[in-house]
Amino acid sequence: MEKKLKNRALSYVDGVLTSHCILCGSYIGNEYDSNYFSLIRKKYCTKCLAEQQKKGLAFRKSEYKKNKKKKIKEFRSWIDEQRIVIQKQDDYIKALERKIDDLERSNQR
Ligand SMILES: [Zn+2]
Repeated sequence: MEKKLKNRALSYVDGVLTSHCILCGSYIGNEYDSNYFSLIRKKYCTKCLAEQQKKGLAFRKSEYKKNKKKKIKEFRSWIDEQRIVIQKQDDYIKALERKIDDLERSNQR
């Protein structure tokens, strides 16, 4: 009996489980000329598989680049925030120094 096949590459040709690339339709193998367990997992021919892997790699590369850009942006805005904090502390220190100067001057009188 012919079971319902999950893998779209697989079909029965004259009762023989046969695999064709789901992209270009080229013949991959059948249950007699190929390893059964490797055959039922295959979806692409060698050429299309290489192209799919290349696409996957390009996608991962672009995601990596995007994430890196985002991290740099976040880090830049964090630096800007720290700059403001430092500026405020600097202003506070200067104000304290002025107060000390005033106190010293009033002591000298
Ligand atoms: Zn193909």
